[in-house]
Amino acid sequence: MSAILRLAVQSKGRLAQDSLALLQQCGLQVLRTPGALTARARGLPVDLLFVRDDDIAGLVSAGVCDLGIAGENVVREVALEDPKADNLQTIRRLGFSRCALKLAAPKAGDIKTPADLEGKTIATSYPAQLRAWLNAQGLGANIVVLKGAVEIAPALDLADAICDLVSSGATLIANGLSDFATVLQSEALLIGNDTALEPQKADLLARLLRRMDGVIASRATKYIMLNAPRAALDEITALLPGADAPTIMDLAGDKTHVAVHAVCRETIFWDTLEALEARGAKAILVLPIEKMMG
Ligand code: ATP
Ligand code: ZN
Repeated sequence: MSAILRLAVQSKGRLAQDSLALLQQCGLQVLRTPGALTARARGLPVDLLFVRDDDIAGLVSAGVCDLGIAGENVVREVALEDPKADNLQTIRRLGFSRCALKLAAPKAGDIKTPADLEGKTIATSYPAQLRAWLNAQGLGANIVVLKGAVEIAPALDLADAICDLVSSGATLIANGLSDFATVLQSEALLIGNDTALEPQKADLLARLLRRMDGVIASRATKYIMLNAPRAALDEITALLPGADAPTIMDLAGDKTHVAVHAVCRETIFWDTLEALEARGAKAILVLPIEKMMG
């Protein structure tokens, strides 16, 4: 019987789709029967367990699953609250489901800075992280725990301020709230525990991580192609963000220009393209890279 890795992912919600998309990009095909709690992936021997995001860290900590994909906000909360969860380890930061745990208060009120929280009441679904943050700031405040709809707590007079997840900020604005401090910048994490995997599973994990690293690296990485005046070649290659040695090729029937091809490992902004154009670069193409290795 060969080894199979068990990976917990969110069943449905804000993490679910991007988690499965990442696995798919790593070559794991997942056929999920509606309502099923597990699925065997094809491509690599991995079993998926579909659960609520709140349960993922606990399942990994207890060793029920070898791996999990969960929001840092939830992983940290579990790690702070459950003494048994101190064996959790972040294996990779995955770069999706970015959001921030922020403090906010009614725009029209008098809480504008962390110091104004002294003696006040704060509603949150993340009491452990809020408590740790308040302690670090040397502040004393009461915490009211709500599982959801935290943003309406001030309007209901349940709390003076809130500590909640924010991504676009639209929910805060819609509720007349304004944020003034950040407790955590969060993203999805691949987590494991500190128990050594048996050799076959360890090999499997290494393969999965190699693929994941390729996918993560190729997200910001682009392939750029352009034609540059020979005279401006040095200036133009110096502008390419995070590029290894570019490939320079002659152009048929044009002695004054050369073709430049390069892999750029950093984001190419419009400013860069404008600067390239200003130095005489023509026919600039920026292409996504689907997979990368080596
Ligand atoms: P479940 O049913 O699995 O318990 P949930 O309702 O607790 O789901 P979701 O709303 O799906 O959770 O959010 C899952 C994770 O997505 C959050 O813990 C967080 O890491 C991330 N996330 C990204 N943006 C936001 C946002 N604007 N609000 C809340 N969570 C966000
Ligand atoms: Zn949840």
